[in-house]
Amino acid sequence: MTQKPVIQLIDVRRYYLVGDYLVKALDGVSLSIPKGSFTAIMGPSGSGKSTMMNLIGCLDTPTSGYITIGGEMTNGMNETELAYLRNEKIGFVFQQFNLLGKINALENVMTPMTYAGIPHKERRERAEEMLEKVGLKDRMKHLPSELSGGQKQRTSIARALLKKASILILDDSLSAVDTDTEDNILANLKKHHSDKTVIMIAHRVSTIRNADHILVLDKGETLEYGTFDELMALNGTFKAMYDKQQLEKQLAMQG
Ligand code: ADP
Ligand code: MG
Repeated sequence: MTQKPVIQLIDVRRYYLVGDYLVKALDGVSLSIPKGSFTAIMGPSGSGKSTMMNLIGCLDTPTSGYITIGGEMTNGMNETELAYLRNEKIGFVFQQFNLLGKINALENVMTPMTYAGIPHKERRERAEEMLEKVGLKDRMKHLPSELSGGQKQRTSIARALLKKASILILDDSLSAVDTDTEDNILANLKKHHSDKTVIMIAHRVSTIRNADHILVLDKGETLEYGTFDELMALNGTFKAMYDKQQLEKQLAMQG
């Protein structure tokens, strides 16, 4: 039995015209993401990772190609329809966190549930519980400006996890947290949110090992795609990145 893909990209391109120069941020990527799977996206800076996340997250529309979310074709949808889809189906953790600056961590985490019409007491309890899970029990009353980069990331992850969305997009969200915190968050995701489809931009081999599929982007194109074992067997870019990180890890351990 083949699972129906929850997200499908067909020959998706996103071009930007900057002055006279055409930037091909994404240049013909096709991808099928099965429901409940965990996909890791890798690639050097400027390879199109955020562009792709924004397209999947319905925050942007492609120059050409097709995108379906939950079986629905997004091409031709207007702003309102895209916003509805985004609200219903997608939890997004941005590279820049996007926390509201004037309210504390707890209130930030409670915000998306407000729109879902959940009573205040329950929202508060759920938010407190989630902040505790991501290790921010003693930071709930802090404003974003009073939090470190890693703490802001964890706050925005807690917020996204509480949204009742079946798709979770993490754009470079865990790069500022330490390896243990990252492993904790991912273990928690697997245990309590195994039904969620997770797409995550990742750099660490420990994270990537856990992914069902890995996509390596380069200059807006798919360079390699497959399971961890498949990419290792390819003996290409992914394998080289993996070996390099393993070596760095060993050297760091030796002090
Ligand atoms: P990544 O997330 O992999 O670092 P991005 O998706 O942010 O890469 O960017 C891919 C390419 O598209 C880069 O060359 C970037 O400069 C360009 N780009 C991204 N957004 C815009 C924009 N709004 N206008 C023009 N160029 C852009
Ligand atoms: Mg990016």
